[in-house]
Amino acid sequence: MEPLLSVQNLKTHFFTDNGVVRSVDGVSFTVNEGETLGIVGESGSGKSVTALSIMQLLPPRKGKIVEGSIRFEGVDLTKLTDKKMRKIRGNEIAMIFQEPMTSLNPSYTIGNQIGEALRLHMKLNRKEAEERSIELLTQVGIPRAEKIVKDYPHRLSGGMRQRVMIAMALACNPRLIIADEPTTALDVTIQAQILELIQQMKRKSNTSIMMITHDLGVVSEVCDRVIVMYAGRVVEEADVKTIFSSPSHPYTKGLIESIPTLEEEVEWLETIPGNVPIPSEMPEGCKFASRCKFAMEECLNAEPELYEIDPGQKSRCFLAKEVKHAVTVT
Ligand code: SF4
Ligand code: MG
Repeated sequence: MEPLLSVQNLKTHFFTDNGVVRSVDGVSFTVNEGETLGIVGESGSGKSVTALSIMQLLPPRKGKIVEGSIRFEGVDLTKLTDKKMRKIRGNEIAMIFQEPMTSLNPSYTIGNQIGEALRLHMKLNRKEAEERSIELLTQVGIPRAEKIVKDYPHRLSGGMRQRVMIAMALACNPRLIIADEPTTALDVTIQAQILELIQQMKRKSNTSIMMITHDLGVVSEVCDRVIVMYAGRVVEEADVKTIFSSPSHPYTKGLIESIPTLEEEVEWLETIPGNVPIPSEMPEGCKFASRCKFAMEECLNAEPELYEIDPGQKSRCFLAKEVKHAVTVT
């Protein structure tokens, strides 16, 4: 069966005053029907740019898809006109952003914002759109929805606003939801509720989900399969169980090993020393070499390809097999 979404060799570059930034540099992955794919990586790894490329929401004139294809239900989105893309965006592919306050329009009521998509894509009239908005808000667990539709976003709490975003995303029964750090700004209890809500919605309508996150806890809870991104590339891909039990890329391994235990208040990424290389200082060989405790001479000269090391598991590391089977000494 053809995957619902197939991204092949995607390259999205930004043209800045300081030169070209290759934010996404040859990324390939698929999302199957009813599947939740996690996209994991630090900020600057290219996760969000990948999402914006799929949605065709890159900042005009600055960000550009320079190569590759994004096939959704068999159609290459990079070849569509703006008009055709507008019919897909919000309708067949919906996006949930991290900061609901910046993606909700402060001067429209909640009802009007949800209703806009319903009128545009589902051709509902004003009254039908309002009724459906109330239904959707109730579905995502918002109490007194008849009253909330008439409210403005600033009157709601962060958790409630995120529920509104989910209601908006669900409004047109999309085939694919792209959620970019949907719970990062929320406290732990609300976060768990929102994740459970997304799971329920998925079970009910078999929607596929692309879950972009830096939080491996979120990944273990909701994802079926995971891709790990680093410096605009996919460095590892595997099902969620394999990612946690036998990671094969030193970066993935570092992320897993540095998940804080409950008593520790450390930022999980701090335990991998160093940062993602800045674009103007992108090394020749493996992009992770400067932070890699397994690095060898060869890694500085040549960049490994992403290749299958075991069925369903891909790695972009010369030592993938060794890393996968290395005994962890901590
Ligand atoms: Fe580390 Fe070399 Fe593997 Fe890169 S290729 S992750 S530097 S061992
Ligand atoms: Mg991001």
